[in-house]
Amino acid sequence: MSDWISLAAGQSYPAGTLYVVATPIGNVADLSLRALHVLGLADAIACEDTRNTGQLLSRVGLQRPLVAVHEHNEREAAGRIVQRLAAGECIAYVSDAGTPGISDPGARLVEAVRAAGLPVVPLPGPSAAVAALSVAGEMLDTGAGRFTFVGFLPSKPKARGEAIAALASLDHAWVLYEAPHRIAETLAALAAGLPPTRRLLVGRELTKLFEETPVMTVAEAPAWLAGEATRAKGEFVLVVEGAAANAADDGAPDAQAQRVLSLLLAELPAKRAAKLAAAITGASTDALYKLALAQRGGD
Ligand code: SAM
Repeated sequence: MSDWISLAAGQSYPAGTLYVVATPIGNVADLSLRALHVLGLADAIACEDTRNTGQLLSRVGLQRPLVAVHEHNEREAAGRIVQRLAAGECIAYVSDAGTPGISDPGARLVEAVRAAGLPVVPLPGPSAAVAALSVAGEMLDTGAGRFTFVGFLPSKPKARGEAIAALASLDHAWVLYEAPHRIAETLAALAAGLPPTRRLLVGRELTKLFEETPVMTVAEAPAWLAGEATRAKGEFVLVVEGAAANAADDGAPDAQAQRVLSLLLAELPAKRAAKLAAAITGASTDALYKLALAQRGGD
């Protein structure tokens, strides 16, 4: 074991540096050797939630001073951290789970440290999006391996429906994060707003005891979720297949068709608006109608 640690310790870790450290998304053993080493040598660890990070540290047998840097105090706290770095301290920053800055705070702190001309070093590690993409198989072949990271969709039904409509025509895979209390709504909105045969990878509870990564069509997803009472509990990352891989996407509303639909929807019932929008743009009436219903959900 000590040989492994010396691999990490062999590198130099200059003082006066902010180390942005990825932490596990469930399984504590995913903390990298370098992360372990840097967390151990840091003069302080800036973190989103001191209780959460305190628990992680105690699980790996470390004790370091913690400084809270969260959404609500990031700017002021960043100023204090810059002062400490300028005085030659070595500070690590971690978010609650995964890679800082990825649907997590951290950006303002990094910006403040850079603006002060001080070094920022990333320590890569777990991220739910990348973990899910790594088992998405041929879904990644659409769009020549490109993908779009979306993170959380808007929570209001209308805005969520519009966001899905805007993403529907991407020719490559896209990645969503979703909280347990909204997963049912999001799967229903994907089923309503996308062609029914579009494939979806559901990454549930990655790296944890009840981890699963089934691939299904968007039409099947709501029933899959409802199939077991405990399923909606847990953390979810979704990978949605890009449009080019799916022949049934023909006629899917593009941005222009979605704009026309939105304008008509302001004046007309969903069915009529979808029919007219299809006649004007050539997109599928069925797809436009589903989109209209998804958008109307929030009215
Ligand atoms: N910074 C994190 C990362 O790099 O993945 C993401 C933080 S974001 C606030 C939390 C969201 O990430 C969760 O709501 C869920 O969508 C996703 N997530 C985090 N851990 C996960 C896990 N073990 N399995 C599936 N999704 C996870």
